[in-house]
Order: sequence, then structure tokens, then C-alpha cells
Amino acid sequence: MSSSNLKLSPEFWSTVNLAPEKTLVVGFVYGGLSETGRKPQRPLLKPTADWLTANFPSDNIIGINHGPLVCARNTAIRDLVIRDAVTMGRKFDWFFSVDNDVTITVPGITHFLKVQADVVSCDCQMRNSRAWEESRSFHTPMWFCRTKVLEAIEPPWFDFVYSPDMCEVRACECLYFRDKAIEAGFSVAHGGHCGHGNHGTAWSTDLHEESTGELPDLGLLGGE
Ligand SMILES: [Zn+2]
Repeated sequence: MSSSNLKLSPEFWSTVNLAPEKTLVVGFVYGGLSETGRKPQRPLLKPTADWLTANFPSDNIIGINHGPLVCARNTAIRDLVIRDAVTMGRKFDWFFSVDNDVTITVPGITHFLKVQADVVSCDCQMRNSRAWEESRSFHTPMWFCRTKVLEAIEPPWFDFVYSPDMCEVRACECLYFRDKAIEAGFSVAHGGHCGHGNHGTAWSTDLHEESTGELPDLGLLGGE
């Protein structure tokens, strides 16, 4: 599919809250231990990278090649949203987050972008079949929020919730963030659809092969 087919029209963007030029896009390209200075081992899937580059200014798209994943999410917010706004005057109205096992399709993402809330996550296949049951369910394969939500929350933004004896994970890192956002007075909703890794219905062997491919100029994704 050529990028002209992927690019949503100005008319479409005028109907949704999120504006591409006011949005910081962060791709979580590696979920293992920190690989600073090395090429990402698992870059974004090609349909996802293509859609992002067709719709957002390239300067607004950054890849985080850092782990574990919870640390990568917190680092992205601390450094790229909070710190860079102060030290570089680089302020965004929206934060858009996508993992390296997500596949974007145009119908799925247009529904996702139309959801009206301060924190919005995209429905996808999860190991837990009840993951999207609540109207305020929130999970992190692909999501966006107003940056003022991130500014209002005391770090950490993401953490696992453990049992008191630390023998079990009681809640995924997403719920921790969701509950803090709600506590700070923000609205949370979900909708649309994307493919999600080997849990996803839009996942195919072909896409998996493409996931090891090179990305077009995506900020830090190359990490030379
Ligand atoms: Zn979750």
C-alpha cells in the first residue's frame, strides 16, 4: 500500500481531538535489556511504521530501545515529555504510544482516533479474554493521551501491582497507570482495533517476517 493510501485526510483530522503536529509518537521497539547504541532487534512492524510516517511529522516520531518495558515507558515520559518540554521547549499536546508487536490497519485506527477521552487505548487481542470488558479498560499495546495527564501524575507512571508477599502480579502495568489517571480526574476510554503480536488476529507469518526489516528514518530507531 502506498503512503498516499495510508495518509488520513485533513478533513478526517479536523474531526478528532488529536492533531499530528502536536503529537509525540513513541515506538517501543525492544522489550529486553537496554540495548543503547545498538540497532533495535525488533523494530515496529512495517504496516505500523508506514502508517505513522505517512501521518505524523518525522521529527515527532521517536523509538525507545530500552528495557525492561515498564522502565522504557517511564523513561519515555520522564525524558521525552516532561524533561524535553523544560530543557528544549519541545512541548506536545498529545502522547501516542505503540509497541513493536502492533499492526495498524486504516479502518481500525480511524475508529480508535475518534474515541473522545483524555486517555484512549486501542482494542486488540490480549491473553486475558476479558481485557476490554469495562468501559474504562486500558492496555498499552497502542494508546494515546493528553500530555497534561502525564504532567499531572506523580512518577512512576507505570508499575506492576504485586501481592503483598511479591509472589504474584495482581495487575498489569496498564491498570496502575489507568487508576492514577482516573484519580487525577481524567477520562479513560477504548475503541478501534489493531493487530497485536502473536495474540493478534491481524498477525500473519508474512508480517512477522517483515518485523525484522529496516525502518525508514524514524528518529532514534536506527540507534547507530
Ligand atoms: Zn494491560
